[in-house]
Amino acid sequence: MMSRIRSRDTKPELVVRRYLFSRGLRFRVNVSRIPGHPDIVLARRRAIVEVRGCFWHRHSGCSAATTPKSNVKFWKAKFRRNVERDRLHEEMWTKAGWRVFVVWECELRPAIRAATLQRLFDAIVAPASPLASVSSRRFVYPVPEDETTFMIAAEPEASPAAIRGS
Ligand SMILES: [Zn+2]
Repeated sequence: MMSRIRSRDTKPELVVRRYLFSRGLRFRVNVSRIPGHPDIVLARRRAIVEVRGCFWHRHSGCSAATTPKSNVKFWKAKFRRNVERDRLHEEMWTKAGWRVFVVWECELRPAIRAATLQRLFDAIVAPASPLASVSSRRFVYPVPEDETTFMIAAEPEASPAAIRGS
């Protein structure tokens, strides 16, 4: 029995949020003003982080992305919708000038969690750095006019320009 809050603040997402916060990054969560309601929005760094469950979002090649044996048609249709929606959102965000980083749930298992989080952090603060399994797309577009609306919980003004990468 999961309450509404529990299901929204899924544990993997909390792990990522706590880590980014501990590294000094500031962000907003479940931003309803951006279509698709991205999980984590770092406005100043033009970055969106999505934390995805491997089963529901069909992590390609992942052993957790199984298909239930019954109601196969139902599940396949559902999965297809999820994947399609994810792709549309990513496209929308990148076109609007956001860098999009996807963290898969399986990448947060204890054995590799620290490495995944470190890589994510590096990617966020240093956009040009090469990435392995954290996907990154970088587009240079004008900042949308409503940028300021995301600055309410913004990073401190003092954050060094040198590591912002733009
Ligand atoms: Zn996976």
